[in-house]
Amino acid sequence: MPFIKPFISKIPVHESERINLKLFTVGPVACYPEVLEAMGQQMYSHRSKEYFALHYETVKLLQNFIETRNEVFLFSSTGTGFMEASVRNCVRKNMLCCINGSFGERFSEVATANGKTVVKLEPPLGEPILPDVLDKALKEHPEVEAVAITHNETSAGLINPLKELAPIAKNHGKLVFVDAVSSMGGTEIKVDEWDIDVCFSSSQKCFGVPPGLGIGSVSEKSLKLSETAVDKGWYFDFKVWEDDQKKGVGTPVTPAIPQIAGLNTALKMIEKRGGKKWYSDLYKERNLRIRRGVEKLGLSTFPKRGYESPTVNCINAPEGIDGSVIYEKMREKGFELAQGYGPLKKKTFRIGNMGYIEMSDIDLMLKALSEVLSSL
Ligand SMILES: *Cc1c(COP(=O)(O)O)cnc(C)c1O
Repeated sequence: MPFIKPFISKIPVHESERINLKLFTVGPVACYPEVLEAMGQQMYSHRSKEYFALHYETVKLLQNFIETRNEVFLFSSTGTGFMEASVRNCVRKNMLCCINGSFGERFSEVATANGKTVVKLEPPLGEPILPDVLDKALKEHPEVEAVAITHNETSAGLINPLKELAPIAKNHGKLVFVDAVSSMGGTEIKVDEWDIDVCFSSSQKCFGVPPGLGIGSVSEKSLKLSETAVDKGWYFDFKVWEDDQKKGVGTPVTPAIPQIAGLNTALKMIEKRGGKKWYSDLYKERNLRIRRGVEKLGLSTFPKRGYESPTVNCINAPEGIDGSVIYEKMREKGFELAQGYGPLKKKTFRIGNMGYIEMSDIDLMLKALSEVLSSL
């Protein structure tokens, strides 16, 4: 039984006018109807047994989903809050940031803003971080304490070989932080097997839940480091969160209850339909349907072959055409894609396949794209 009715996002334009758009965005994405329904419930106290039941069940579902026994925290922030937390709780002075685009760059900015010294590992745009390159960089920089990896670089539509990179960092005795914001849910992640210290995401990407929740797992080693961290602040102090979670009182601050209820529903829905393998296969299928479709229209994808993201296709705009023109024309046809990002803004446009999307919607979108391309 398909669980998808045609999805439509109503975006207010003027008070009197609304337009309907199908979303192929990279976050926020279209949300599952079941999720929206679960989020529309009346509020209740976050110190009630009803909340505690929801909280601990959601934590358990997430631990199963990313295959970890580590603590999982639900921050009332977005994923970037977790990025900042990893730096503040676990790094004394030096870290290495793998940069394949804007979000890797953000990790290094967050580290610098928190007074850390950053070694940047930055291949040319569109190319992945390769294990031997990371190995070499860590040999040259024994002082770094942690390695930050953007699993899926949303801005360039590129996925890094995390499964091979994590053991390299571990061989050098480094902590591993993973920005899995646009990959968690969209592809395989095995936190314990790959020995990831901090692995975080946001609600508004692959899980198809509205924004407002930072989701992440934190290893024993990271918690230990947090004990003696100086100037780590309070709001994202892992120890404060661990204490309350272990005491059975959930969170130290007011949790984003609707988002947590939405995420709980999404995770149960995934389990019911076939589990995480089914979900990541669904992503692969949607993603390839879009990629094959745009290739048929004569377009190519930006990242190096073999490293294309399973959750967003970054597509080279046709020769001489600004990618944002295609974005605008697709909007006029009722499809919201994503514009190119940062230095790729003009040269590319992106088609996300995260959240609530049906195969038939993909076909309609591709048809519209074909019309747009022939009108140029
Ligand atoms: C969207 C995104 C972010 C930012 O997430 P927020 O939820 O806005 O904090 C960070 N990293 C990646 C890879 C992303 O796709």
